[in-house]
Amino acid sequence: MRIFDPHIHMTSRTTDDYEAMHAAGIRALVEPAFWLGQPRTGVSSFTDYFDSLVGWERFRAAQFGIAHHATIALNPKEANDPRCVPVLDVLERYLVKDGVVAVGEVGFDSMTAEEESAFRRQLELAGEHDLPVLVHTPHRDKLAGTRRTLELVAESGLPPERVLVDHLNETTVTLVDEVGCWAGFSIYPDTKMDEYRMVRILQERGPDRVLVNSAADWGRSDPLKTRKTGDAMLAAGFTDDDVDRVLWRNPVDFFGQSGRLLLDLPERAAADTFEGNSLLRGERATARTA
Ligand SMILES: [Zn+2]
Repeated sequence: MRIFDPHIHMTSRTTDDYEAMHAAGIRALVEPAFWLGQPRTGVSSFTDYFDSLVGWERFRAAQFGIAHHATIALNPKEANDPRCVPVLDVLERYLVKDGVVAVGEVGFDSMTAEEESAFRRQLELAGEHDLPVLVHTPHRDKLAGTRRTLELVAESGLPPERVLVDHLNETTVTLVDEVGCWAGFSIYPDTKMDEYRMVRILQERGPDRVLVNSAADWGRSDPLKTRKTGDAMLAAGFTDDDVDRVLWRNPVDFFGQSGRLLLDLPERAAADTFEGNSLLRGERATARTA
């Protein structure tokens, strides 16, 4: 089983996780820029973090044979902090970099005016840079948050096929399907969506425009939830080809729209040095779309 986890925060994970992920079949991932738990107090905290996402973390992943990509944004939660909002003016520096495959995570956390303004600006940036967008939906008031999210996406004029609306459930997926955006599902260990509910959703709506992720981060989470979803799909009668489509070809199709996937990574890159890694020198690899 080859797996592309389209949403996982490896900065918060260990080398044991990388080893277990590789053993489970994970060969590529996307790490969205997000909230680190401890509030940031200024723009340089963001830029150090963004540099780490496109540099150090990509190198670390490569040592375990996993292609690492990032999405860059001011996350919804910190859009409420006036010390953080000026980072919007430096995002463009990162949105042109290799391996940056979308603007994200953007969207709503508490549905404030400040969040809406940062969300609108970042939808514009996605249009200006011809990049897909990864949109986070709030865990509280998810239905209202998803409705408002889709209104702003429609107003932005971005093509729906370039927008991924994430952290969906049985209720909110219908709204997203109606407008033709991609539907993202985060599979959690004990709350919210699990792999069996995911299988039932796939049985009902089919595998089109669906991405499944672990959203593993610094909280209780499981970086192998993509693999567990693949196993649950097979146990429920889906074919190997269905699993490959959901766990590999769909994320490649969605993020491939950026033209910046880095899937030509050598199987073992452990001998590379951080400075000597060609991926880190910014050489563009061609996206493999099959
Ligand atoms: Zn996340």
